[in-house]
Amino acid sequence: AKSAGRNNLQIFTEELDDAAARKNRMEDALRLGIANGEFELFYQPQVSLQNHTVTGVEALIRWNSATLGVVLPLEFIPLAEETGLIVAIGEWALKTACNDAIKIQRMVDHPVTMAVNLSPRQFEQDNLSQRIELILAESGLAPSLLEIELTENMLVSDTSDALAILNRIRNLGVRLSIDDFGTGFSSMSYIVKFAIDRLKIDRSFISASVNDLSCRTVTKAIIGLARDLKIEVVAEGVEDEEQRAFLARLGCDDGQGYLFSRPRTIAELPATLRGLEEK
Ligand code: C2E
Ligand code: CA
Ligand code: CA
Ligand code: CA
Repeated sequence: AKSAGRNNLQIFTEELDDAAARKNRMEDALRLGIANGEFELFYQPQVSLQNHTVTGVEALIRWNSATLGVVLPLEFIPLAEETGLIVAIGEWALKTACNDAIKIQRMVDHPVTMAVNLSPRQFEQDNLSQRIELILAESGLAPSLLEIELTENMLVSDTSDALAILNRIRNLGVRLSIDDFGTGFSSMSYIVKFAIDRLKIDRSFISASVNDLSCRTVTKAIIGLARDLKIEVVAEGVEDEEQRAFLARLGCDDGQGYLFSRPRTIAELPATLRGLEEK
């Protein structure tokens, strides 16, 4: 039994070593990726459920690593956050998204919001609001066309620094939305306090809404609250017509998901937007 225990311990430490080695390799690859410009943004349309126009797009990062091949955001974003590399990646994403937003405005004859995901780690830079201001000025994008996607937990963070930065960003005229709404710990009082412009109902509620009564109830409640508070609401992960009809009936403003479009490159976007608005 003693030797078996030792063997187990050995296997366990080998697994830890493997995990640590994998992490190290990915961290090296991330640094290389930043230096070599290996990241790309794809854009997923957000479509009005009331009149079928495209109201916005969300920028979603893609990484084709020279050493690791294609790595999914869910695999590398957590490590980028842990190592702080997300600050450089996030700044690149903001810049690229604002420049592309100008191109997108030329594709359609109405305003299209550019939504960019911001990591909580980016709020540790105390000059974040100035950097955003500079990026907006350099790109020429109107602040009201930029929307920052935050997680709910950002709002309840007890660091008053983060909250002060959030207020400064708000005061630039940039829109704020809450990502994955319903999965975190914020309350409506935070939503009101920070004058949040838009809630994004988490995909998990939408995908279960058709079959699961409690998910349907959550979806209905979020849409009802948002409407009463005059906050816009967008449903994530809309995949089929039944979900779209259900959301439209409840008065949800917009939808985003594979039913409308997968995330697309900037080059693919003109045809995608045309296709969506012709319907
Ligand atoms: P998220 O912000 O919740 O983004 C939505 C995710 O759902 C995206 O995954 C999108 O491709 C996927 N999706 C969209 N419509 C559908 C649908 O109808 N069905 C299903 N099953 N999925 C759908 P993606 O692109 O893999 O991104 C994953 C997460 O990585 C994002 O979740 C976000 O948290 C993070 N992320 C992506 N880009 C960035 C970025 O530039 N900065 C930061 N900080 N995080 C990012
Ligand atoms: Ca998001
Ligand atoms: Ca989301
Ligand atoms: Ca999510």
